[in-house]
Amino acid sequence: MKNYDVIVVGAGNAALSAALSAKDNGAEKVLVLEKASSKEKGGNSRYTNGAYRFAYNDFSDLKKVIPNLKNSNSIDYGKYSVADFLRDMNKVTDGKTDKKLSKILTSKSFETIHWLSKKGLKFTPIKGRQSFKVNGVMRYWGGLTLEVNGQGEKLIDSMLKIIKKNKIEILYDTAATDLIYEDNIIKGVKVISKNKPKTITAKSVVLACGGFESSPEMRTRYLGPGWEMAKVRGTKHNTGDGLSMALKIGASPYGNWSGCHAVFHDMNGPEFSDLKISNKYRKISYPWGIVLNANGERFVDEGEDFRNFTYAKFGKEVIKQPNQIGWQIFDHKVRHMLYPEYDVKSATMVRANSIKELLKKISSINSQKALKTINDFNKAVKEEVKYDPTIKDGRCTEGLALNKSNWANKIDKAPFYAYGVTCGITFTFGGLRVNQKCQVLNKVMKPIKGLFAAGEMVGGIFYFNYPGGSGLTSGAVFGKIAGKYSAKL
Ligand SMILES: Cc1cc2nc3c(=O)[nH]c(=O)nc-3n(C[C@H](O)[C@H](O)[C@H](O)COP(=O)(O)OP(=O)(O)OC[C@H]3O[C@@H](n4cnc5c(N)ncnc54)[C@H](O)[C@@H]3O)c2cc1C
Repeated sequence: MKNYDVIVVGAGNAALSAALSAKDNGAEKVLVLEKASSKEKGGNSRYTNGAYRFAYNDFSDLKKVIPNLKNSNSIDYGKYSVADFLRDMNKVTDGKTDKKLSKILTSKSFETIHWLSKKGLKFTPIKGRQSFKVNGVMRYWGGLTLEVNGQGEKLIDSMLKIIKKNKIEILYDTAATDLIYEDNIIKGVKVISKNKPKTITAKSVVLACGGFESSPEMRTRYLGPGWEMAKVRGTKHNTGDGLSMALKIGASPYGNWSGCHAVFHDMNGPEFSDLKISNKYRKISYPWGIVLNANGERFVDEGEDFRNFTYAKFGKEVIKQPNQIGWQIFDHKVRHMLYPEYDVKSATMVRANSIKELLKKISSINSQKALKTINDFNKAVKEEVKYDPTIKDGRCTEGLALNKSNWANKIDKAPFYAYGVTCGITFTFGGLRVNQKCQVLNKVMKPIKGLFAAGEMVGGIFYFNYPGGSGLTSGAVFGKIAGKYSAKL
């Protein structure tokens, strides 16, 4: 096998950003190793909506990313400063996010998305999910405004085209199994390529091969009991290999190892996600209804905040419930507001013309208790507060053991709907400790020469929760940095 300047492990968004950046920064021979076959390529990045959160000052910044974007009086794209992004990172992580890393993530978010667009990635404003019509104007919440045209699938296809154009090699069906580490220096990787062991040498290695969300053993070990029951929302290949390899040679673990991004997900979804249905197992329109567990009790404040700030943490709550299940209940008034994934044929859904009949149809719920919960909820809604889904309207319930803080509506207009959910894990938060060059640090906090990390593998950024759209941005920002410094060795 020939000797490379840079080997990048993984071929998701972080890895491909790292490989491109390594090329940009002078590395001649760059090799990308991907465990999946070319048919299953793209990692979790391929399953995404392709939405990137990034800071922008005004319309003119968005226009730099999408040169043919038209301004219009009927659309307000808003703005989202670096300070706003940092504030959101601190808010959702309870201030735990690493100060240096989150400063890099937020302050370099715009230039990195701009770099990707100049490389050829085509962005478009997100339709529907991130905006609301107010007085005839489509107003964006801010922050999560653009996605890749064609979402995750196109993101990966386009990145791979750009990779090819830059003469970067990719080996599919090739899993890195070990780092070659001698005299305190990384010398390459051992791989299983098409089921045969091989050794590939390089001056530096960028690990960008995801977290451990697809390993039931590691989930249970680090996230806790019950997590082996979670369904995986993305690829089956992110089994913590890069983390295990790095820890084996003395890399320092960092961040929220017992934490992950996990959402409400169809209770009958498969063990790993299926690219045809992809993101559609997700069920995150709960702010417009309530969620009951098998005992017929509510267990989250469905209206705590905008869904961007709660959806990633509520999956964890359903793991704690009996049989790890829940039922989301909606009435006719809000049914039209649910995301399109509620319409997929395979959705676990029950519909009825009365609440009693609805609950009777659900065998896995204590229907008497559930009926009481719904009646008590209806009585507690503060109807004098105006309902407004475009803002945190303060239309809450009062006097319940667990109140709903916003968007509380009586569930009283037939037909009624119940959607069966469980936990769908997206990605894990625990990772490796890196410095500002994305060099992986060892146990005495010194860089391991030649070893870099990016994407889901970087620890210390997300704790407990995550602002929607930051995963791709984090992969691109830290991938670009890792690529740059790996090329300089
Ligand atoms: C359904 C879904 C929707 C999402 N939507 C969004 C969104 O819209 N916006 C957003 O910001 N985030 C979203 N996310 C989160 C986002 O996917 C991740 O944060 C991001 O894609 C991680 O990128 P990555 O490159 O680190 O990992 P990945 O894209 O998962 O890439 C890791 C790659 O490494 C490979 N690999 C694993 N082990 C090895 C090995 N031993 N050797 C070689 N290769 C290996 C894997 O096969 C994989 O291709 C979503 C996630 C899911 C599952």
